[in-house]
This record gives sequence, C-alpha cells and structure tokens, in this order.
Amino acid sequence: MPVSSAYRPEPRFFQLGAEYGDAVKPADFPQTILRLRNDRAAATVGLETLNDAEWIAHFGRFEPLPGQPGPVAMRYHGHQFRVYNPEIGDGRGFLAAQMREVPQADKDSKRPQAASLREGSDRDTKQSRLLDLGTKGSGQTPWSRHADGRLTLKGGMREALAAAMLESLGVPTCRILSLVETGEDLERHDEPSPTRSAVMVRLSHSHIRFGTFQRAAYYGRKDQIEALMEHARALYHPAVAPGDAAGFLAAVVEASAALTAKWIAAGFVHGVLNTDNLNVTGESFDYGPWRFLPHYEPGFTAAYFDQDGLYAFARQPEAVFWNLTQLAGCLKLIAEPEPLAAALNAFGPAYIRHLRAAFLNRLGVQSLGEAADQRLLDATLALAREKKEALRWEPIFFDWFGGFSSAARALGGVRGKTYQGEAFDAFRFALMEHEPDRPERLEHPMFAAPEPEEMLIDEVEALWSAIDAGDDWAPLKAKLARLETAKSAWSL
Ligand code: AMP
Ligand code: MG
Ligand code: MG
Repeated sequence: MPVSSAYRPEPRFFQLGAEYGDAVKPADFPQTILRLRNDRAAATVGLETLNDAEWIAHFGRFEPLPGQPGPVAMRYHGHQFRVYNPEIGDGRGFLAAQMREVPQADKDSKRPQAASLREGSDRDTKQSRLLDLGTKGSGQTPWSRHADGRLTLKGGMREALAAAMLESLGVPTCRILSLVETGEDLERHDEPSPTRSAVMVRLSHSHIRFGTFQRAAYYGRKDQIEALMEHARALYHPAVAPGDAAGFLAAVVEASAALTAKWIAAGFVHGVLNTDNLNVTGESFDYGPWRFLPHYEPGFTAAYFDQDGLYAFARQPEAVFWNLTQLAGCLKLIAEPEPLAAALNAFGPAYIRHLRAAFLNRLGVQSLGEAADQRLLDATLALAREKKEALRWEPIFFDWFGGFSSAARALGGVRGKTYQGEAFDAFRFALMEHEPDRPERLEHPMFAAPEPEEMLIDEVEALWSAIDAGDDWAPLKAKLARLETAKSAWSL
C-alpha cells in the first residue's frame, strides 16, 4: 500500500464509540472501472502515490487504508423537508477513513501569490485539518431501508462537477476524490432506466451533521450529545472552550452563515437542505439535484420533488437558519436556553456581513466599510432584480473586468440595454466608490478565456450525454481541468 510519507491516519470518529456508527461491508461490484481520480485532492492527504490498481482496491473495493479500522456507516436522523425521519443514516455510504491534511506550506507552492497571501493570515495559524473519506454508492447498510445502497454514474458525475465548480468559486466544499464505475444496471424513477452505477469517494472536513445530534436528542441521550459536542468542538472548533455548548453553537452558526452567503454570491442552489445534509464544520456537501442560477430569480428551485420551493435559491438562508434552530434544540439538553438563543440570533447579522464580503470579492473590489459595502450589495441586487433574464447571474461580475462601462454599453440590443438605466447607474456609482482589488486578477486565465466558466444545466446534460452515449470522458475531464485552473482566482 504505497501511500506517501505525508499520509497521517487519525481515525477519530471510529474511536468515539460503537453507538455512533455500524461496521459494514462494501458491495461486491461486478466491475470496477476507474473513471475519475483527483490527484490534487489526493495529494492533500498523501494518497496521490497510489497506482491505479491500488486506487481501485481502496476506492472501488474498499480495502482499508493503512491505520484505518474499516468502513463504518454513520448513524444520524434528520428533518427531510421539515418532517422528522428517525430511519435515515448512512444508507448508501460509509466513513472509510480519516487522516490529517498535509500542511499547507508543502502542498500549495504553486498557488498564485496574491491568493495565498490573502488566505495566509487565516491559514497559517490553523492546525492542519482532520479530513474524512466518505463514500456514496458503496452498498447497503443497516440504514438503507428498502433502497439499493447504490449511486448512479450520472449522479456521481454531477456531484464531482458541483464540488469542482464550488471550489473554483472559493466556496468551502468537500472535494470528490474518486469515481469508479461499478457495472450494475440501476432503476431510477427520474431518469431513463436502467442507468449505470458508480461508487464515489469524497474528501470532506467532517461528516458530523446536525442530524447526528438530532439522533442523540431523539433518544434523550444527554451523554451522547455531550460526547459528540466535545468531539466536534475539539476537532473542528478548537477555539471554543471545552464544555461550552453555546460557544460551539455560535461557531456552527458563524460557519453556516458564511457558507450560505457564499452559495448566494455564487448563484448556487443546493437543492436539499435537510438537517442531515448540513455539516457542523460549515463545509458544503451532498450534491444531488443542485443547480446554478441562470439569472436572478429568488424562487428558483433545483429539486423536481421540492414542489413548494422550500429550498429555493433565496430561501436558503431561512432553511439553514431553521436547521440551526433544530441543532440548538438538541444542545438544550446540555445547556441553558438563553445563551443558545443568543448564538442563534447571531445568524442574521453574520449572514449579511458574509454576504457583503462575498459580493465584494466577486466584484473584485475592496471594502470601504459597512455602509458603502452595503450600498454596493443593494445596488447589485437591485440591478439583478431589474434586468432579470437580460443579466445572467455569472457574467455580470465578469463584465466588470471586461470594461462594461464603455465597450459593453456600446453594444446594441438586449445586451446593450442591460448596461443602461437608473439601476445600472446606481450600481456603477456604488462600484466606482470602491477601489479595485487585486488587479492581477485581470491577468488570470479565467478572465482571458472567451467565455467565463458557468455550470448551467444544458452543459451538465451535454457532458453526461458524451459519457453515456460514447464513453467520451474527455469533455468532463477538460471541464474539471478548466475549473482547476480557475481555482484560487478569488475566494468568495
Ligand atoms: P439524501 O437526500 O441523499 O441526503 O439521502 C437521504 C437518506 O436516504 C440518507 O439516509 C441516504 O443514505 C438514503 N438514501 C438515498 N438514496 C439511497 C439508496 N439508493 N440506497 C439506500 N439509501 C439511500
Ligand atoms: Mg444526505
Ligand atoms: Mg442524495
């Protein structure tokens, strides 16, 4: 098992006790065909040195990596579309391994200097993170209910794209490490059947969900809430004092508010913001029916089964907040209600603060203080609201760099009109107040490209068609490589 010398196993969740997960066996797949291997992500934990056969042994057949106890299906409950479900848990996945991230200095020497400086102050003081390898589609578990425990190849491919797109936009996200096709025919209602199967591995900063706490609370297990909180506090929010449940909640609130603001600035719609899909680290994961917003549309919904629009684009902050109130309810078993309520009440102000910062970063301008920053945010959203379809969500930001104030205004037709009128002038005025930040971004390949990177549904479908029709993986790999190049251009 030639893992690199930088590989540092640290199976902490496995040591938490038998009540938090169940040892499981992976499915015995008829085939294991390596489709995607993310060596850059693998290098962050010292696994890039595996050869393809070893890769498949670990990420297709799930032979435990050195120092790892073997697969554990994690136990959790959750509110699904606001309905409590005590029967979920890892039904088609498991925790395969935990290890330390290779320290930043070793791994990112090739980053553009401005970007690493920007994150430097924050990153340098941090201990290297504990990361999980989690699977999806690896077979049935005690929590599969009547489902097959499998993942469609299309679902795996879509999840890899979502993660790469979010990463390129600077949103905290899991990374997709591996996709192995497994040679089974799957029946699914929402796609032409049968469809192809795969097993995916994600590299994630924890898999402890709000729903992990909900399960302990459901059984009235104060001791488990305490143990989980202490485990997650020490590993993921170490600045919080031991035993400080309200401080822990405050840290989760802050991380969740930052994540939500970054989704909004990115135009991302997660699709299924159930309490089992939110991580206590504030890292985004579990991408099923996700979409990116084509243009400003608050009611834009990603999941066909979300008929009421509960998880629509502009309702994501409300959804995350509602989920946080459920986590707070669990922590009430071990803490006084007042400080928990105070921690929850910080969500709104934190979200607005992070939203201003995310939009400023997206626009590439520096902060001028709260009032001026808020004017710019308001003017940007007002412009997006007024122009609707005429203004695609992504290019509005890129067009600033393309010099819309002169060249784009000279364009005729719909595109020209986009850059005229009161809302546009107010936006331009608010933008001009701010100093451009990081002029080197203009030199970045992403801005030199003829089209900005987008990830709209037609492109996703075209990438899938190439794979399903002719096993042509080149367009998908090219897209992932372009997103990789774009990475670090900025950070939302
Ligand atoms: P999700 O909406 O993807 O977060 O999944 C909700 C729950 O359903 C989780 O417990 C999953 O493990 C489970 N689940 C989803 N699809 C399957 C499947 N094909 N087989 C078994 N369990 C599944
Ligand atoms: Mg899930
Ligand atoms: Mg799912």
